[in-house]
Amino acid sequence: MTDTTFEDLGLKQPVLTTLEEIGFVTPSPIQKEVIPLILSGADVVGQAQTGTGKTAAFGLPSIQLMKKSGEAQILVITPTRELAFQVADELYRLGKSRKLRVVTICGGKSYKNQIDAFNNGAEVLVATPGRMLDLLNSKRLPNFRPTTVVLDEADEMLNMGFLEDIQALFKFLPEKRQTLLFSATMPPAIQKLIREILETPVFVKTSPDRTAHADISQAYYLIQDTERDDAIIRLFEGQQMVKSIIFCKTRKEVDRLASLLINRGFRAKGLHGDMEQNQRQRVTQDFRTGQTNILVATDVAARGLNILDVSHVINYHIPCDAENYVHRIGRTGRAGQKGKAVSFVTPNELFKLMRFQKHSGGELMQNYIPSKKDVKEAQVSQLMEKITDQTLNEDVRETLLKHLKEKMDLEVLTCKLLSMVLSDSPINGPDEIGIRDNGTVKKAKKRDFRDDKNNRGGPRGKRPAFNNKRRRYSSK
Ligand code: AMP
Repeated sequence: MTDTTFEDLGLKQPVLTTLEEIGFVTPSPIQKEVIPLILSGADVVGQAQTGTGKTAAFGLPSIQLMKKSGEAQILVITPTRELAFQVADELYRLGKSRKLRVVTICGGKSYKNQIDAFNNGAEVLVATPGRMLDLLNSKRLPNFRPTTVVLDEADEMLNMGFLEDIQALFKFLPEKRQTLLFSATMPPAIQKLIREILETPVFVKTSPDRTAHADISQAYYLIQDTERDDAIIRLFEGQQMVKSIIFCKTRKEVDRLASLLINRGFRAKGLHGDMEQNQRQRVTQDFRTGQTNILVATDVAARGLNILDVSHVINYHIPCDAENYVHRIGRTGRAGQKGKAVSFVTPNELFKLMRFQKHSGGELMQNYIPSKKDVKEAQVSQLMEKITDQTLNEDVRETLLKHLKEKMDLEVLTCKLLSMVLSDSPINGPDEIGIRDNGTVKKAKKRDFRDDKNNRGGPRGKRPAFNNKRRRYSSK
């Protein structure tokens, strides 16, 4: 049996040429399902995680369906500015063949530029809810009658408190339109919104939670609360962490940890919502291009970040719920690449992480923070490899070595040279970091199992709060 092609899904020239140019050969599962439906004109609800090719799934058919040019016809609403820029970039790439004019409408940028771009023939508007509503309310987008409206990451928008803005915004949109909604999860509030703004939609669900993160290995380090900084520095000193995102709880923590890492010589930058939009874009761009290789971020700031080669996601603190855990670890292992998600947990937090892992699927391994001795050994074996691979410089033998041999014994000379190389990579912090006690893990597993049994059938995301109440109540 041959694989389905984009052509089989109903896409035509010039879209097919663009796909060839940008190297999309095989449609992803969500694209296979959704593209023919959108081309048929149906309203569609797609349950899919980020990184599954969602943007092209709605972008390609919507672009093909566009009739006129030079008039705004597609509106995409996203929860964050970062995601808006990302989606806009991707749509621009997908619409290259017809020189698609895409404009981003979001807070933190000048109204004038956005309105000018709209008036100058923007065909696709990618917007965050607040600014879009603001422009519609103040009647600054005259004759705006999009034929396709997309809500991207709808669950995130609701989590961020945008429900009322979205409802208000739809009052300005034409009744006759095609509406598409994408969401990683389908809580009741989303289902209600779907009933309000979509017309007899077709539901599509691909990559259920449990397999969505098959390319991501998940591990945890059991530590004391006070060991987080030592642990993170040791990990960066001792391992190949090519490109990492570190998730923190608060903006303050982001600033502090980013400064700490910069002071220790790492190429790190912080990203959070208190920063100016320009600054946030610069930080994201530096990370994307490899100027920096560590991004320290809060959940909201990093939401929707689509950077293909993130090797590690590190939960400096675990998130408050399973949904956020799934979103965070989804920043790595993108587009079929392998990724690692690691979490620092105290003994008290471990059962919570085990719960999150059940939600995300996959296996959760226990890892140990390398000791000073482990890192030293790793450095020595790396050095050995380097020495073995090093080609000999004849000048060195003739001149420098002759000279040095006259002055000192060969063994002393070798030791001095090796010490010189190793002194470039000092190992900081205590000898041992973290907890290596199996009893703690057993206890957490027991606690998780007990809660699971008592809550069978209950809503997953709500469990911890319910359990806390129940435990307090029964202990009285
Ligand atoms: P998204 O889920 O839309 O954020 O897409 C995730 C990444 O996958 C983006 O970098 C896309 O450019 C890429 N992508 C989407 N569809 C395909 C495809 N069919 N083949 C290869 N890459 C794709």
